[in-house]
Amino acid sequence: MKDFLPFALPDITEREIAAVTEVMRSGWLTTGTKAMELETKFAQAVSAPHALAVNSCTAALHLALEALGVGPEHEVIVPAMTFTATAEVVRYLGARPVIVDVRPDDHQIDPSAVERAITKKTRAVIPVHFAGQPCDLDPILELCRARGVAVVEDAAHAFPVAYKGRPVGSIGDLTCFSFYATKTITTGEGGMVTTADAKLAERIKLMRLHGISKDAWKRYSAEGSWYYEVLAPGFKYNLTDMAAALGLVQLERAEEMRARRAAIARDYTAALGKSDALELLPVHQDRGHAWHLFVVRLVDGVLKIDRARFIEELKARGVGTSVHFIPLHLHPFWRELSGLSPKDLPASAAVYERSLSLPIYSKMTDEEVQRVIGAVSDLVRTHRR
Ligand SMILES: *Cc1c(COP(=O)(O)O)cnc(C)c1O
Repeated sequence: MKDFLPFALPDITEREIAAVTEVMRSGWLTTGTKAMELETKFAQAVSAPHALAVNSCTAALHLALEALGVGPEHEVIVPAMTFTATAEVVRYLGARPVIVDVRPDDHQIDPSAVERAITKKTRAVIPVHFAGQPCDLDPILELCRARGVAVVEDAAHAFPVAYKGRPVGSIGDLTCFSFYATKTITTGEGGMVTTADAKLAERIKLMRLHGISKDAWKRYSAEGSWYYEVLAPGFKYNLTDMAAALGLVQLERAEEMRARRAAIARDYTAALGKSDALELLPVHQDRGHAWHLFVVRLVDGVLKIDRARFIEELKARGVGTSVHFIPLHLHPFWRELSGLSPKDLPASAAVYERSLSLPIYSKMTDEEVQRVIGAVSDLVRTHRR
């Protein structure tokens, strides 16, 4: 279809194209000065003492848990309402993901479910800031700190945003960001992990590039020498300078792009918030919102069509949508591993059935926003019981 509106598009300007082209002409494509500059500027942006650039948020989460020493004897608590990456990194290290339910209103990890799930084996909790609004971190931090459990935030949706005045990235023990193509800033593929702990940062730095120590070469040889030492079987998770150059421009534009998404969210809320057929997620006054996703829930019993049909009809009207997320415990692998049935985590299973995500990205024009509103409103009118 000619004027089909995709669910997501990256916001790339001539500035990003020029920055990447400059790196391509420079003769240095992989990790170098641009990646270091992105780390410095990102650390400043989130008020974190250390920021380590990597090639995905999945890599960031893996390295964060590895640095904490997570192993086969441990459990790590994750919410059901997330992408599989949040839980798969726990399996990389042989540990057991413990999947807990979310709150039915804002789809965020339920602190009381976290409390019930903590055992002597729990090494970490991975709260996810669903849709770009920070989850309720304070109760989670409090109960984790009292028990010596680490908090690793999955902030794949949550840049730039603050929780009670503190930037996400400066709060938990480690925070992991995504620069995937559809996220709030992008490097194509990329990610970042931030921490205030120098020891954790040092371990992540070592493990993201083959476990190779640069210090050895600084100690024993002249700068730029061939000598290095392998201290551990590390990973290949470094970010290229081409990606970092793209990220540096996106970082400068992050607030401008966030403001545009917030304006789209205001338009959606004004137009759809009063419909008896739709429920919007609550916006909490004590924190910001990065507006990575705009989720709506169909109210039970108002429309003659279900969520799947609603999505099909929107597609037929030229509007792309998505679903965030199919809860972990409904996927074959996680269902089998966890032994959970849908009703064991009732809120996740219930909100999943009725949710869809509308397009919300900074490149959308006012006309496109109105087209989405028009298509949704028309569907609600047409299919009322
Ligand atoms: C996108 C996403 C990830 C993974 O990010 P990558 O950079 O693609 O590895 C992790 N967690 C959540 C909640 C996500 O949405």
